[in-house]
Amino acid sequence: MVNRVEMENRIIPYKMLYEAVASTQGLVDGILPAHGIPSLKLGLGHIKSVMEDFIVKAGEGLPIIGHHFSFPTEYLYCFECVPVCIEATSYFLAALLPNGSEPYYDLITNWGHPFHTCSSQKGTMGMTLDDLFKFEAIITPTAPCDNTYASYPFFKYHKNIPLITPDLPFLKAEKSYRYHAEEIKLGLEKLGKVIGQEPNYNKLKQVLEVENQVTNLQMEIFELKKATPCPVENMFNVMAAAAQIYLAGREEKLEFYRQMLEIAKFRYKKKEHHAGEEKIRSIWPYMIVFFDLAMGEWLDRHLGMSILFDIFNYNFADPINTKSDLETLFYGMAKKAMEAPMTKQSAEFYYPFIETCVQLAKDFSADCFIFTSHLGCKQFGSVPQLLREALRDEVGIPMLLIDLDVGDARFASEKIIREKIKLFAQTLL
Ligand code: SF4
Repeated sequence: MVNRVEMENRIIPYKMLYEAVASTQGLVDGILPAHGIPSLKLGLGHIKSVMEDFIVKAGEGLPIIGHHFSFPTEYLYCFECVPVCIEATSYFLAALLPNGSEPYYDLITNWGHPFHTCSSQKGTMGMTLDDLFKFEAIITPTAPCDNTYASYPFFKYHKNIPLITPDLPFLKAEKSYRYHAEEIKLGLEKLGKVIGQEPNYNKLKQVLEVENQVTNLQMEIFELKKATPCPVENMFNVMAAAAQIYLAGREEKLEFYRQMLEIAKFRYKKKEHHAGEEKIRSIWPYMIVFFDLAMGEWLDRHLGMSILFDIFNYNFADPINTKSDLETLFYGMAKKAMEAPMTKQSAEFYYPFIETCVQLAKDFSADCFIFTSHLGCKQFGSVPQLLREALRDEVGIPMLLIDLDVGDARFASEKIIREKIKLFAQTLL
């Protein structure tokens, strides 16, 4: 007979996350007025119910499968499993707990892993070192960065966890999509052998259909953000990034986006801003600061600065054709995976990124860009200065560059970051 507690204890960080989500939701419901920060209220509610489901399924003994966010969570729903995104776990804990994932960054650093690698992986590596996660298998494409290549072998060689690594090419071309499609299919088959399950492609199709509907809603919200004032609050960016992973392929995700679209349309018609007056429209072409959940709201209320979107909220994949044969299905999945946020930008040359940024600045009437230069992203280190010059020359707007670790407050603290943004904002008004 399955020992439920023992089984649940294979995902202790998810139990921590569940408690953190539930207590934050309790606070939010108790303190905020009925219509205050709807994305936070709605997002936490949906994530809480999905986390509950994950914990129940872990208790029933379903396999725990770790994955890099570059291998979309919903693809794992061809199995009966509990998917755990390595990167999202580190950063969602960073957003919700006072010291976030810092104790686990220190654990893995003390073990010998270089401190300057990406904290998104370091957190879950530390948790796994401490046996808080017990993965049956892990799947990661060979993207989007050196941190991924260099960090994941820890799971295989130190913890003996089967590691499956579908190859993801740099070139964005038909032959690459076909190649990556084959790699995803082979990867899922290998994974199935490790956990003793056959991939259920009919179930996968249903999940992908939900995601297709979500994409349509995302596009509508994105379009509405062109309006002045932006009818979507800053907090939406954080909750949408969390929803991308935790609500992947589920009805809760559809519901979250339907609710947010209604709110955005209502504000758009009334020309209403979430927090009074919009004074500055900013685009964050890379990441927002995960360890400071309240920063978006502070920017909305104290500086009147909208974050129109960050890297996880401006590129959207084409819908996947689920009505044809398996080859077409995997082709669509490969294209979606290769063009997913951060995988697209970090695994290609910088010209398309700069061109996209210039176009977005024009289309969304941005007043400025704020670029968070994350310690882990060595592959992106040279891009900010080129982007700054392009924005100045092509659009005539400035860019603030902040060196930090988006998941570890000890590199640049919340106070320092807010102070920099405040001073920068004064130069714009
Ligand atoms: S691209 Fe940067 S933020 Fe993303 S996983 Fe790699 S190092 Fe971390």
